[in-house]
Amino acid sequence: MNSTSTPRVFNFSAGPAALPLPVLEQVQRDLVALPNVGMSILEISHRSSAFESILAQAEADMRALAGIPSNYRVLFLQGGASLQFSMVPMNLLSPGATADYLDSGSWAAKAIDEARKVGSVNVAGSTKSDKYVRIPAQADLTLTAGAAYVHMTANNTIEGTEWKDLPQVGDVPLVSDTSSDMFSRPLDVGRHALIYAGAQKNMGPAGLTVVIVRDDLLERSRARASVLPTMLNYAVHADNQSLYNTPPVVAVYVLGLVMKWLTTQGGLAGIEKANRRKAAKLYAEIDRTGFYRGTALADSRSMMNVTFRLPSEELEAKFVKESAAAGFDGLKGHRAVGGMRASIYNAFPEAGVDALVSFMSEFERRAG
Ligand code: PMP
Repeated sequence: MNSTSTPRVFNFSAGPAALPLPVLEQVQRDLVALPNVGMSILEISHRSSAFESILAQAEADMRALAGIPSNYRVLFLQGGASLQFSMVPMNLLSPGATADYLDSGSWAAKAIDEARKVGSVNVAGSTKSDKYVRIPAQADLTLTAGAAYVHMTANNTIEGTEWKDLPQVGDVPLVSDTSSDMFSRPLDVGRHALIYAGAQKNMGPAGLTVVIVRDDLLERSRARASVLPTMLNYAVHADNQSLYNTPPVVAVYVLGLVMKWLTTQGGLAGIEKANRRKAAKLYAEIDRTGFYRGTALADSRSMMNVTFRLPSEELEAKFVKESAAAGFDGLKGHRAVGGMRASIYNAFPEAGVDALVSFMSEFERRAG
């Protein structure tokens, strides 16, 4: 039960998404006056020592949680993952060089479109002709020797697929959009050069973008300082501890609380176990009789976004309507895929998955 009188629905939204109830309750408890500060997080100066320590603590907790090596910087930025589609090539793709992109879904394709406006792009693997129902195979990748970087999308939010293993890219810096699976399982930061994600699915509220970047890549930003807009230069944000301008203060605070909550869940290994269990229950129901049909190939299925169809569009419309009436919000799939999508990020409760599984089998019994 929560501490307000309005009951909470099960929020299956693809993002912004459910936050842990204990985090919401702490925000509520401390909203009018932060302990030892006497004013609200909504009002506090980003230059205050209180906020500086909130930001430093959020970063420290994230570093401990994800095992971020000391030669990586953590940046708290704005503009969403969508701005990273531009910032990555603007900072890392020098004139004359080529960047390799792995086209595994609709968001990957958007990243490619933006990079092409900046420089030379090679699509080194694509499953577009298969409607992105699977992840490209390593054997099918045509990587460029000496590429500026390889860009991948770790979890394809719209299609409901995820990379099970990182692609082998040799010494080329690997850049990953982890918007929809960041901190849902352990990740090997050391195998990446840059990782970015909007916070609003697994880490906090909207308005904050997390970038984890290896120190040596910042040299590319420094070399381009005279042509890069200051606000779009990674090195500027790194050199100013994400306080070059006003950061999204509230979102950084809530992200800090979510990092602490993740620690209480057994860290990334603990949350992965819970996430695997939740996804396995849903896929088992989808596969049980053939009434429901998963849209992603089995070996590419996402643990975060479970996409499925029903036997007809009529039944899908009925499912959307009846599930909403039963207290399940946000199950309608993205229009690019159709059908249903259950997004079950870190904070989505297992009880909500159990309730959806019961609803699905009852719906099938009535309609099947
Ligand atoms: N990449 C992926 C994988 C996403 O899922 C999303 C948002 N759903 C984006 C990028 C765009 O993120 P934002 O809205 O933060 O710009």
